[in-house]
Amino acid sequence: MSARPPLTKELTVGLLIVSDTAAADHATDRAIDTLTAVIAEANAAIHGNTYEWLIEERRIIPDDKDKIQEKIKDWCDTKGLSLVVTTGGTGFAKRDVTPEAVSELLDKTASGLVHGMLAASLKITPFAIMSRPVAGVRGETVIITLPGSPKGAKENLESIIKLLPHACIQAAGGDSRVLHSGGIKKLEKEAGVIPLEGHDHHSHLYESGGLASDDAIGMSSGCGHHHHAPTPRTQQSGEAGGELRSNDLTGNVAQRHRSSPYPMISVKEAHKLIAQNIPAVGTSSAPEIIKRSVDAGLVGYILAEEVRARESVPAFRASIVDGYAVVHTDGVGIYPVVGVSHASPGEIKPLEAGQIARITTGAPLPPGATAVVMVEDTRISKTTEDGTEELEIEILASGLTELENVREVGSDMKTGDLLLGKGAEITAVGGEVGLLASVGIREVLVYRKPIVGVLSTGDEIVQHDRVEDLSIGEVRDSNRPTLLAAITARGYEAVDLGIAKDQPGTLEETLKASFSKVDVIITTGGVSMGEKDLLKPTIERTFAGTIHFGRVAMKPGKPTTFATIPFKNKISKPIFSLPGNPASATVTFHLFVLPALRQFSGFIGDDVYLPKALVTTDQDLVLDPRPEYHRAAVRIDRSSGNLVAKSTGGQRSSRIGSLEAANALLCLPGLGEVGDKRTRVPRGDKVEALIIGDLKVLDG
Ligand code: AMP
Ligand code: MG
Repeated sequence: MSARPPLTKELTVGLLIVSDTAAADHATDRAIDTLTAVIAEANAAIHGNTYEWLIEERRIIPDDKDKIQEKIKDWCDTKGLSLVVTTGGTGFAKRDVTPEAVSELLDKTASGLVHGMLAASLKITPFAIMSRPVAGVRGETVIITLPGSPKGAKENLESIIKLLPHACIQAAGGDSRVLHSGGIKKLEKEAGVIPLEGHDHHSHLYESGGLASDDAIGMSSGCGHHHHAPTPRTQQSGEAGGELRSNDLTGNVAQRHRSSPYPMISVKEAHKLIAQNIPAVGTSSAPEIIKRSVDAGLVGYILAEEVRARESVPAFRASIVDGYAVVHTDGVGIYPVVGVSHASPGEIKPLEAGQIARITTGAPLPPGATAVVMVEDTRISKTTEDGTEELEIEILASGLTELENVREVGSDMKTGDLLLGKGAEITAVGGEVGLLASVGIREVLVYRKPIVGVLSTGDEIVQHDRVEDLSIGEVRDSNRPTLLAAITARGYEAVDLGIAKDQPGTLEETLKASFSKVDVIITTGGVSMGEKDLLKPTIERTFAGTIHFGRVAMKPGKPTTFATIPFKNKISKPIFSLPGNPASATVTFHLFVLPALRQFSGFIGDDVYLPKALVTTDQDLVLDPRPEYHRAAVRIDRSSGNLVAKSTGGQRSSRIGSLEAANALLCLPGLGEVGDKRTRVPRGDKVEALIIGDLKVLDG
C-alpha cells in the first residue's frame, strides 16, 4: 500500500458581507457570526481529516460593484484564499449587484454548486427562486455567493459545505488522479454525504455529491437529521508502542498531526478502560473509606461495612392500638381503670389481674399487662362525678391471646440483626437513613465520593454571566455551568476550575493547581485537531500522563479523551477531556464520567451505569454511521405503561438545546452494526434508551 501524501493544508476562507446597512453599522451584521458558526460546525464534524477550514478574512462592504470586485481580486489573486464566500446582493433590488460583480471575475462557472444551493433552499421556501446565486473559480479560489438573510445564507452554505473541500483542493491544483482514486463511493464517504438510493454512481461522478439527498436537506433545515462526518482519507500514522501520540507543542503548526493518531474505540471498550483506571471496590486501588454521620448528608453514599442493629426495635413492649392494657386471661367483664400509658417516656404503674390501664398506640405496656383490647371492643361503665375521667370500663372482647395487639421487644429488629449489607446504597428515598436512625447508629463507614473539578478551555470562551455583549468570535461558557449543575445534583462536590486559555502555560498551571484539590478532573474543549487543542499534549508531555483513549466511535463525542496523570505516591488523577461542543460534553458526561464517579464512590458491576430501558420511538430515526446517542424525552404512557420517546429535535453537537427537557439518550446503533440493511429505526420500533433524568408521565 503506497501511502498517499496529505491532500492539502488548511483551507482558507474569506467572508465578504455585502450590505449597505451592515456596512453603515457593523453592529447590525449577523451574517459573520452565523457563517463562522457553520464553518466551525463543519470543522467540528471533520475531526481527524486532512483538511480544516480557517477563516482568514472577514469584511463588511456596501452593495457596490467596484468595492466587491476589488476585495475579491485581492483575496483571490494576492492572498490566494481557498474559498471566498459572499453574502447579500443576490436579489432583484436595484442595488443587488453581487452576482454581476462576481460573474465578471470568474474563470470557470460552477453551475452544479448553484444548482445545489438553490435545490436545498427550495426545499425550505419557494421564495428561494428569487435568489440569483453564482459560483465558480477564479485562479485557485472557489467563490460562492449566498443570499443576504443570515438564515438563507446558513442553509445554502450548509447544503454544500461538505462538498467544498473537494472543489477547493482541485481548484488549488490537487492531483485529480489521486483525488479520485477509489471512485465516487469513496469520495462520498469521505465527504460524509450519502447519495439517494438507486443513484447511479458511475455516470454522474460530479453531479452527484448528495446535494439532493436526505442528508443535505437535514443539514439545511437543522432539524434532527444526520450530519455524516467525513472519514480520514489517509492511513493513520504513529501507533508505534511507547511513542507519544499527541502533538509536540514545541514544533510548529505545520508539523502537527493531520489525522488523529488515536485509535477509534467503541463505547464498550471506553467503558472498560475507564473501569480499569478508576478506583474500584474489591481491587488493589479500592476507593477510600471514611466515617460519615447518619443524617441527610449520607444520601448517595455506599456502605463500606455491614451494619447490624445496636438495639432492638421496639425497645419495649408497645401497644399497636388505642385501647386498654389487660391481663389476657381476665376475660369479659367490668374492670377498674388504674392507670394511663401514653406514648411518652416515664415510669408506668404495674398492672395486676382484675385491673386495666388506658393505653395509646405506640405506648409501653404496663408491667404485668399481657395484651391490649381495642377501644372499639369496650364500653364506658362509670366516670367521675364531673364526667371527665373514666373509672370503670366494660371489656367486651373475649378469648384474648397473650400479646394480642402488642409489638414484642425486638419484633421488628433484634440487637445484632443485619440492618444493611456492605455495598448498600443510601438512597434519596430515605429508607436506609431511617433504618440506621431507628437503632441509634450514629456513624457508618462509607466509600468517599470523589470531588470533581470542572475546567473550560478555549480562547473564545467567556464567563456565561458576563454582562457585556459578545464580540465576534466569543462564546459564552455553557459547559461549565451545565457540568457543575449535573455533578452537584448527582450528589458530588464540584469545584469550579474556571476557564483556561488555549496557551500551554495557562492550562498547565490550572491543572497543576487542581490536582491537590480534586479527585477527578473534567475539561471541555481543546481535544479536537486544531493546533490550539492542547489537552492531549499537555497531559502526555507536561504531566507524563497516560492517554487511555482519545477517540470513541460515537456521535456526538468522538474526540472524548480519558487519561490518568500520576500524582504523589501512586495516586493518579483521572482526567476526562470532553469535546467542547455543548451537547457532546453533556452526553459524554452522562455516558462516561458519571459511571466513573459512581465507581469511585463504591458502586460495583453494572450499577455504576445509569439504567437503560427499551422505549418506543414516536418518529423515524435516521441511523448514522457511528452509534448515536440521540437526546430524547421519555414519558410513561399511563394507560399502556409503555415508555415513549420523543426526540428533542436538532441533534447537532453544538446545540445545547437538544438537551433541554431531555431525560434519555436513545442508543441508536451505527449503520454498519445492525445486521439488516436498516438505515433508520422506524417510528413505533423499540430502541434502548439510557435514562439520564427523571421519568414523567405522558400528557393527555
Ligand atoms: P473544541 O473542542 O475546543 O474544538 O470546541 C468545539 C466547539 O465547542 C467550539 O465551537 C467551541 O467554541 C465550543 N465550546 C468549547 N467550549 C465551550 C464551552 N465551555 N461552552 C460553550 N461552547 C464551547
Ligand atoms: Mg477550543
